[in-house]
Amino acid sequence: MKQHHADIVIVGAGAAGLSCALSALEAGSTVINIERAPRDMMGGNTRWTEANMLLKGGPDQEGFELNDMFYMSYGINKGFHVDPDIEAETVSDYENWSQLAKTAQFVDPELLGSFAEAVAPTLEWLTERGIKIDPKQAAPLPFCIESIPYVQIYGGGLAIVESLTPRIEEKGGQFLFETTANKLIEENGTVVGVRCSGKDNETIQVYGKVVLASGGFEGNPQMLVQYGGKNNRYLRPVAKGGHYNKGEGLRMALELNAAAAGDWSDCHQQVVDPRTGLQEAMANIWPYGVMVNQRGERFINEAPNAIFEWQEAPPEAIMEQPGGIAYTIYDEKLASDKDCNWKYGIRTDKPPIKADSIEELAAQLMIPPAKLKQTINEYNRACVNADKVKRGGVLGELLVKGHLDGATTEGINPPKENFAAPIDSPPYYCYPAISSICFTHGGLRTNGQAQVVNASGEVIPGLYAAGETVGMHYGNYTVGTSVLRGLCFGRIAGQHASKKE
Ligand SMILES: Cc1cc2nc3c(=O)[nH]c(=O)nc-3n(C[C@H](O)[C@H](O)[C@H](O)COP(=O)(O)OP(=O)(O)OC[C@H]3O[C@@H](n4cnc5c(N)ncnc54)[C@H](O)[C@@H]3O)c2cc1C
Repeated sequence: MKQHHADIVIVGAGAAGLSCALSALEAGSTVINIERAPRDMMGGNTRWTEANMLLKGGPDQEGFELNDMFYMSYGINKGFHVDPDIEAETVSDYENWSQLAKTAQFVDPELLGSFAEAVAPTLEWLTERGIKIDPKQAAPLPFCIESIPYVQIYGGGLAIVESLTPRIEEKGGQFLFETTANKLIEENGTVVGVRCSGKDNETIQVYGKVVLASGGFEGNPQMLVQYGGKNNRYLRPVAKGGHYNKGEGLRMALELNAAAAGDWSDCHQQVVDPRTGLQEAMANIWPYGVMVNQRGERFINEAPNAIFEWQEAPPEAIMEQPGGIAYTIYDEKLASDKDCNWKYGIRTDKPPIKADSIEELAAQLMIPPAKLKQTINEYNRACVNADKVKRGGVLGELLVKGHLDGATTEGINPPKENFAAPIDSPPYYCYPAISSICFTHGGLRTNGQAQVVNASGEVIPGLYAAGETVGMHYGNYTVGTSVLRGLCFGRIAGQHASKKE
């Protein structure tokens, strides 16, 4: 059996694991990163993200500052029916909180405050280490609203992986690739290392303080169904990196009675085209068409209001349909609309399925043709003020409240409340749509120093967690914060674990 020793052992080499490793090395620690993937696939979800960050952005912006949406969104999504007495306690210093507060199911202000404070210094630290971010550049996302300009890391998450990995190695950091951590080693209540399996299932023990930066469990179908219910069987990771995150980091900490946090039944989802393995293969154009299921029935109001208010609704609704699949149908009127930048919402590399009639389209989709024809006819008849349809500009911008056109249906259920124009101009087109998983919301409870606490609110000595491994989402994900939290809490963990007791 092989053994390795370092001051700090980090499980995972995504945003959280790499930022942790570099900060720990700079603080004088020795580090080993354990990474399940081979070197050319390292980096989990981080490798595939565009790394949009919820920062103030635009021509006048100088430094790094969180967008106001940060507090608003976390405030709205802080937890479900939080006990007001427990919440009231959190105005005092964290040391004075009761064990109930330290383990309660909510986004605690200690954690959120620590996150917010870390953003500017962490991003400055990264830019000094070769990561390029320009707050003056801001990009709206397909399906994100214009009032949230996102600031991107140039080169996305891959740039984080490719910039930080060589720096870590130059400073003596070691990577154990194709090695999977599966059990924490504990002595008298203190975590002193982690047991791993390598090639040929060889057991490897790596000793040191342990930082779990191993993502969520989006790559583990068994855990997804166990915690989220049977519709989760249809979920597919939105990018290849998610397959590597199988939840061992969470399981081994829970075995030591770590406190759980975040909504374990929920996850951040996106609608993608199942015909391609491309990351984030979206075709986010259903507000301009209709969405039907395999039975040929509509099942959702395709354009109710600003997308930000219901971004998770379509993927959740699709998972509830037979076979977990849906079809976005539109016609030549949209396809030939040159004034409207509707293709902005399309990222799939597959062309739409095309047919000269609705019945022919149905046959290609294996939907009963008569039923699809009936659904489209009913929808067309219900479009009562199609002359008001106003497409144009960037799709994302149009979906801001106030940019909606109010062209609606009458007398059908579900209604379509905006952009309701008849689908009657052949040829007809369709993008298939499934729900994909970006990351899971369930994770571990940590304090503001990234130390994992147990179910009684006590710190588990020698154990830290950062990034997706920490549970801090209830309800809607605060978009543009997941890369940031990985970078910030990874660095916090690396610095804190490097302190000599
Ligand atoms: C396509 C896509 C687009 C996204 N867009 C955005 C965006 O614009 N903005 C944003 O903020 N977020 C975005 N996200 C989410 C964000 O990228 C991730 O949540 C974040 O990067 C996660 O960082 P992490 O370090 O916590 O986990 P990861 O980057 O997933 O790293 C986890 C690492 O742990 C390794 N690992 C897992 N289990 C083990 C084990 N048992 N032993 C050893 N190694 C293990 C994995 O191989 C992986 O390298 C996106 C994600 C995807 C996939």
